[in-house]
Amino acid sequence: MKSGSESVDFKAHGFPERYDCFMALLDVPSAADFHQKEVLVAGGAGFLGSWLSETLLAHGSSVTCIDNLATGREANISHLRTHKNFRFEKIDISDGIMDRHFDMIFHFASRASPEEYQQHPVETMLANSIGTRNILELAAKYNSRVIYASSSEVYGHPDVVPTPESYWGHVNPIGPRSCYDEGKRFGEALCMAYLRAYNLDVRIVRIFNTYGPRIRGDGAYARAASRFINQALRSEPLTVYGDGSQTRSFCFVTDTINAILRVATSDAARAEVFNIGNPREITILTLAQLVEQLAGGSHGVKYGPLPEDDPPRRCPDISKARSILGWEPRVGLEEGLSQTMRWFRENELPRSNT
Ligand code: UDP
Repeated sequence: MKSGSESVDFKAHGFPERYDCFMALLDVPSAADFHQKEVLVAGGAGFLGSWLSETLLAHGSSVTCIDNLATGREANISHLRTHKNFRFEKIDISDGIMDRHFDMIFHFASRASPEEYQQHPVETMLANSIGTRNILELAAKYNSRVIYASSSEVYGHPDVVPTPESYWGHVNPIGPRSCYDEGKRFGEALCMAYLRAYNLDVRIVRIFNTYGPRIRGDGAYARAASRFINQALRSEPLTVYGDGSQTRSFCFVTDTINAILRVATSDAARAEVFNIGNPREITILTLAQLVEQLAGGSHGVKYGPLPEDDPPRRCPDISKARSILGWEPRVGLEEGLSQTMRWFRENELPRSNT
């Protein structure tokens, strides 16, 4: 167990006796980099934000978590609420932000599920534009380091797969996904503008599909992996869109967090952008079959229409993260899906039955 982790009330976590095994997968490069640091996590009650918040707390940071709870859930951070170095404020970063010094700011506040962000296109664009501006202004005032959560969506429908950071993207600027794609592209451009204008320390992570405990599997919030797991555990057919031949690459959450924390601390990551994802590319139909197999029973596949502008292929080239950060994913898809399935079984299914 890493230093400082005993001060976090992990026993109160959703998966108590399994928690150590998740913490063991976290591999923070230098815990000293986070010790006694004032850190702001915007979107801290979300899937990735809550993992970040607790990992930072466990390594000695004082964490201020802000979230408008549009997608994030209080349940994700309830086990942190009593910690003396944790505070939560319900804030929408598009409306404004506190005026206080932070050493580091993680901007992870945005809807990320295609079905959800397409229902809230304006809010999604504002979180990544006005919201990002509010974060960057605060950072410029107090000389904070900013880590901006961008997305593989900036590549749109890439002609180059696996896609390196040097690829500029192939995006429909007026399509149904553009609120997110262009929101993230604008957010990246604004980070670089603050770097050039004010010499601000910014770092950008382009996060590819990530899954793991606390990812939402309900309604429009669900992503392919979490929806399939939910459906399989409820003995329902899995809803595959199109013929399922489109591809994605799935990274387990602890691998993603490890990479983000390396980006946050590595001197060589300043002013850089990194693809963070697992380079194993699989079809969505293969993912569905794998989930069925791990769940131990098949209830069939229900095919539905392919959503407009759904990217046909997505896979990261992670050479840059490998060479500069010394990072690569360690958790295989079968292992990660099993862990996630166990978490859904123990946490989400009981919750929805009450
Ligand atoms: N998908 C699917 N069934 C679902 C949800 C998603 O077949 O119930 C497909 C979706 O069309 C896409 C892929 O799975 O091709 C990944 O979708 P996700 O919502 O996880 O996000 P994306 O990778 O498109 O941002």
